[in-house]
Amino acid sequence: MKDSGYAHAKFNARRDCSLVVINKGPGGDGFSVCRKCGAAVPGKDGEKALRNITPPYGRDDRNSRSRCFHEFENGLYIGDVFSTDMTIFELSLDPKEVSVYDSDNTWLSRARISLAEAMRLAAVDILDIDFNELCVGSRNRLGNSGAFVDVFLFDSLSSGAGYSSELASEHILKQLFNKTKDILTNCNCQDACFSCLKHFNNKLTHSKLDRFAGLDLLEYAICGTFKSSVTAGDVEEAFSQVREVLKFETGITTKLEGNELRVSGKGISRALRCLPDMAPKTRGESGDEFWKYQLTHDVPAVVEQILDK
Ligand SMILES: [Zn+2]
Ligand SMILES: [Zn+2]
Repeated sequence: MKDSGYAHAKFNARRDCSLVVINKGPGGDGFSVCRKCGAAVPGKDGEKALRNITPPYGRDDRNSRSRCFHEFENGLYIGDVFSTDMTIFELSLDPKEVSVYDSDNTWLSRARISLAEAMRLAAVDILDIDFNELCVGSRNRLGNSGAFVDVFLFDSLSSGAGYSSELASEHILKQLFNKTKDILTNCNCQDACFSCLKHFNNKLTHSKLDRFAGLDLLEYAICGTFKSSVTAGDVEEAFSQVREVLKFETGITTKLEGNELRVSGKGISRALRCLPDMAPKTRGESGDEFWKYQLTHDVPAVVEQILDK
């Protein structure tokens, strides 16, 4: 990996490398596949559905569709090994600065997927190529050697057309990060919309697209900046829906004190804190800290958690 000169980002161009693409099926349950004829249905309980499926090819002596007494294999993943050129970006994360290991925080996956989608849009624009000629993938790597996000831009053409490797130069890299930042910044939507990150080809990730999370990750990667607190105005705005629900549905009173929300009544007395989406929890599992995104996007679950104690 080459040092990019940015705070937490390294990159490298790789020629003719193998990408393994795996489809794990709905919910990761894989597919039920007949070993004899190849008929397949998603999910692990596909045997019943497969029983009535005739082989997709072959005719018997009477020119009727031939039958197959399927031999099922359940829970199979379907995959392909694809050889192409790519430029890979490795973003290193410090768990003391960024929420990496909080299993109940969706920030990291929202940030990674949104940043990757924005980088693809930026790269296509800079290289002036057709949108379908460049693909993007991303993954988290959390292990003993550290915590990383990898974003890889690769040529859609098998064996590579050389587009993605053009990104691996300092000059283009600067343009790429600037353009990516523009895409994530210059919109008025709440999370993502068809004017900034959404398009038909990434429809499976629409629910995870969050341009603010992507921007947080980008700024951390290139400048090293991270947010550890939110402003008083943000706290007020973030807690507003939760306060309404607590007031009208439970009669519990709430009061903002500095950056905390004091909740009291019905045997509950707590001081709740609002965290920036990218910040790690500081109070452990006490349940008194909520990320801003949670407070604005998942009010029922937050209220339930407050009432639980
Ligand atoms: Zn079969
Ligand atoms: Zn938008």
